[in-house]
Amino acid sequence: MSLASPASITGIGVSPGRAAGPVALMGPRPRLPAEYAEVRDPDAEVRAAIAALTQTAEELEVRAAASAIPAAAEVLEATAMIARDPSLEEAVRSAIAKGEPAAWAVDRAIDAFRAMLLDLGGYMAERVGDLDDVRDRTVARLLGVPMPGIPERDSPYILVADDLAPADTVTLTTERVLALVTIRGGPTSHTAILARSLGLPAVVACPAAAVLTEGELVAVDGTTGVIVSGISTQDAVSTNRAEQARRAARAASRGPGRTADGHPVALLLNIGDATGAAKVAAVDAEGVGLFRTEFLYLDRSEAPSVEEQVALYEGVLDAMAGRKIVVRTLDAGADKPLPFLTQEGEPNPALGVRGLRTARRDPNVLTDQLTALARAQQATRAVVWVMAPMVATAAEAKWFTDLAHAHGLPIAGVMVEIPAAALRAADLLEHTDFLSIGTNDLAQYTLATDRMAGELADLLDPWQPALLELIGITARAGAAAGKSVGVCGEAAASPTLAPVLVGLGVTSLSMSATAVADVRDALAAVSLAECREMAANALAGGRSILG
Ligand code: PEP
Ligand code: MG
Repeated sequence: MSLASPASITGIGVSPGRAAGPVALMGPRPRLPAEYAEVRDPDAEVRAAIAALTQTAEELEVRAAASAIPAAAEVLEATAMIARDPSLEEAVRSAIAKGEPAAWAVDRAIDAFRAMLLDLGGYMAERVGDLDDVRDRTVARLLGVPMPGIPERDSPYILVADDLAPADTVTLTTERVLALVTIRGGPTSHTAILARSLGLPAVVACPAAAVLTEGELVAVDGTTGVIVSGISTQDAVSTNRAEQARRAARAASRGPGRTADGHPVALLLNIGDATGAAKVAAVDAEGVGLFRTEFLYLDRSEAPSVEEQVALYEGVLDAMAGRKIVVRTLDAGADKPLPFLTQEGEPNPALGVRGLRTARRDPNVLTDQLTALARAQQATRAVVWVMAPMVATAAEAKWFTDLAHAHGLPIAGVMVEIPAAALRAADLLEHTDFLSIGTNDLAQYTLATDRMAGELADLLDPWQPALLELIGITARAGAAAGKSVGVCGEAAASPTLAPVLVGLGVTSLSMSATAVADVRDALAAVSLAECREMAANALAGGRSILG
């Protein structure tokens, strides 16, 4: 089958690999028509509304019981309880008594609860998203339209969505989903990062995907961003077989990262949980360069206790089998809201209170996390490095590093994600043990381009010379201080960019498990001198992934 057939559409490939299968559309939020027919049988409407609410509750309970992720199960159970709340039923009955059909009555009743919760603020206001979920599922059922959220199907499918909310992504699994296509989203959006960590081929920023229809067979190429529709079952089978063979060949790749002349470059993994940690040995990586701890708590409305965190971190650290792990403290805010830490309604959340800045308001969440990490480190004897996200100044770097040391974590560093931190990397390194460059955010702040903005992907291109310049400044500061400077943004996963990053002086590259084999091969093919030459070319604007 050729992926260049006329029936192809193109987006941005963000997670490599190919997959073919039937499309499952992620239902949008159901909208109520403006007009409705007069209610003739109020009792029948009440029965329909109660039946729909009960089905919503049952469906959520079944999913909670089947969920392997405790945080996801907890949210699903809490949401089911809302659907069974007697006062909600009472409000629905009263709206029907006033002449509204079942779907409209459910919508009105939930709207009133919504306003009440928002007024109460704090924890109660955080339940609004769950209420909306109950509303959407129940109204969809009553109107007979597709269910919103990640679809439930008997066999695996290609998920086509407008975009995914972080809470949706928690329930994505490779058993259910073969590949992911989103109409919006950018190459460094968290949808893309999650797809990569699951090893799920993914294409984002593909407006043409809006024409794909439920059940049609398509082939998705997550490297080129091409989606071919109208393929035969035979085409689908051979695409999936070829992909299996490709994966098997990559799985055989082994050994530490080094250039052709032996210059070592540690190849590390980006992970979000213990499953990710288990992949370190599978792909023979040298450890974990970025453990995004916030991924464990995306669904949580309350901060996790120290004890709960210790248990979770021990699970991850145990899976490391003695290899190094860089744990990042919670990076809440902007596109990764954590209900218990993030401020609602900031005018510019990406420039607001996110990452380490949340500790200005509530240092307890950070100190609890450091306490838990130190305990998990002691219990497992793992090699734990800890680092903070969104650090802008040397004073912040010092504050965090001292705090981590005081909590019994001897190796503490900070991320370079803000141009100010890159420009003053030498100052930061006077107070901290290592730096890790987050190119996803560093690109968005350097080029003043929202990382979620698919249509501005050329500005987020990691080959942008301004971004490379900042990486070079940071790496040189690291070399002068004799401290390690890694890259853990998505740029590190590019086999064509990896030699350039090494030429700029970075000492480690951290990426998803699926990228390791290709990056290892790319480095093994060039000498350090060639890497430096490629870096000089790239700084002069010599190459772009977008051509
Ligand atoms: C980054 O910004 O490059 C990074 C690694 O952090 P995140 O993608 O989680 O914001
Ligand atoms: Mg970041």
